[in-house]
Parts: sequence; structure tokens; C-alpha cells
Amino acid sequence: MTLDTRRIRLIMDLRNSGVTDTAVLSAMERIPRESFVEESFLDQAWANRALPISCGQTISQPLVVGLMTQALALTDRMRVLEIGTGSGYQAAILSRLCRRLYTIERHRDLLAVAESRFTEMSLHNITTQAGDGWKGWPRQAPFDRILVTAAAPVVPQELVAQLSDDGGILVLPVGEASSADQMVVRVTKLGDKLSSEQLFPVRFVPLVEGVAEDSAS
Ligand code: SAH
Repeated sequence: MTLDTRRIRLIMDLRNSGVTDTAVLSAMERIPRESFVEESFLDQAWANRALPISCGQTISQPLVVGLMTQALALTDRMRVLEIGTGSGYQAAILSRLCRRLYTIERHRDLLAVAESRFTEMSLHNITTQAGDGWKGWPRQAPFDRILVTAAAPVVPQELVAQLSDDGGILVLPVGEASSADQMVVRVTKLGDKLSSEQLFPVRFVPLVEGVAEDSAS
């Protein structure tokens, strides 16, 4: 099967599994996932599964990327914060659906590779930071949307504080590290009122406090 066939098949799978937002599907069709996976996993780039990347992390499963992106209800006027850049794949998709994407990664080595991919693909509306995403990015707050792509044991209140209060949305997996009962939660902020919904079960690597001590930096 060629990459093209696999790609078309995956997009059809995503649609059948609940990713119905056509803007999300089209962004996922256009961003070349094969550019975000390790060379040894190239043949699985368009399979609907999470794959290992360096620093013991993972690039998320396409279905999870699709459903979480859809849950954000993005428009092209929004400023969005992502926590956990990893391979940069989710960031690339978000960047096609919003005005500016801010993304934070605690592993400098991962961030450097992701940044080179953004440059190569001319994704110029992404601003990156090597840092601790638990703290968010207070200097750029408030954000219309925040997406966390690592599991937190509780909803980080600093992130809630950095959501805009006119319908800001935070989407994140909540649950213990690598446990089977993590849930994607969506928090909506209207004025000083917060509402929270549980969306679907997932399994993510943990949100870890602090910046990693990488070899190369
Ligand atoms: N969105 C990524 C998924 C990466 S997996 C992708 O599309 O590939 C989760 C990432 O979150 C890992 O790279 C991990 O290093 C990062 N991470 C974990 N805790 C973090 C923290 N406190 N701040 C920033 N990044 C964090």
C-alpha cells in the first residue's frame, strides 16, 4: 500500500470513528505525519496508533489527535496554547486551524527537532518554549484555547487561570501516569464560572513537573 492510500484510509477511519469536523480532517490529511515519526516507524506513519519518539515519549494516536482537536472548536482567529510539543505533530495541526499557536516542551532535544520541522514546513505561526507546561505561559495569557497532551493527575489551576473568560476552553487528559483510566476532560470558562465535561478515555504519558536535563543542551 502506498502512503497516499494509507492516508486516505486513515482519514476515512477517523471520520467513521467520530471526527466529523471537516476542517480538522482536512488539516490531518494535509500535515504529513510521516515527517513527525522516527525513520524506523515510517511504514506505520499513517496507521491509527501512537508511536514511540525519542526521550521515552510518544506521538499520539491520530484518532486521539482528531477528537481532542475537534473538542477545542477552533476558529482561525484564536490564540492557542499546547503543552507537550513532543514530535510537533499536534502543534502542526493546531497551527493550521488557529491564528497563533504557542507550544511548550520540557525536553529541549525534542523541541529542537520539532522546531526544525515547523521551519521546513513553513509553519510560521508557531511560537515555542522549552519549559515547564504546568505553569503555562503567563506572559502570553489569556488564551482562547489550551490543549495539554500529557496526563495530569488533576486539572492544573495555573492553566485554568490563563484561559480567556469569554468561553475559553481547556482540553486535557486527567488521570494517574500510564493508568488505564485517564479521561479527556473539557473545561469551559465563562466569566468566573467553570463547567467541566468528561469526553472519552485515553492513555497518555504523564505531565511531569520541571524542565528535563537533556544530554545535548
Ligand atoms: N503533542 C505531542 C505528544 C507528545 S507526548 C505530539 O504530537 O507528538 C507528551 C509530551 O509532553 C512529551 O514530549 C513530554 O516531554 C511533554 N511533557 C510532559 N510534561 C511536560 C511539562 N510539564 N511541560 C512541558 N512538556 C511536558
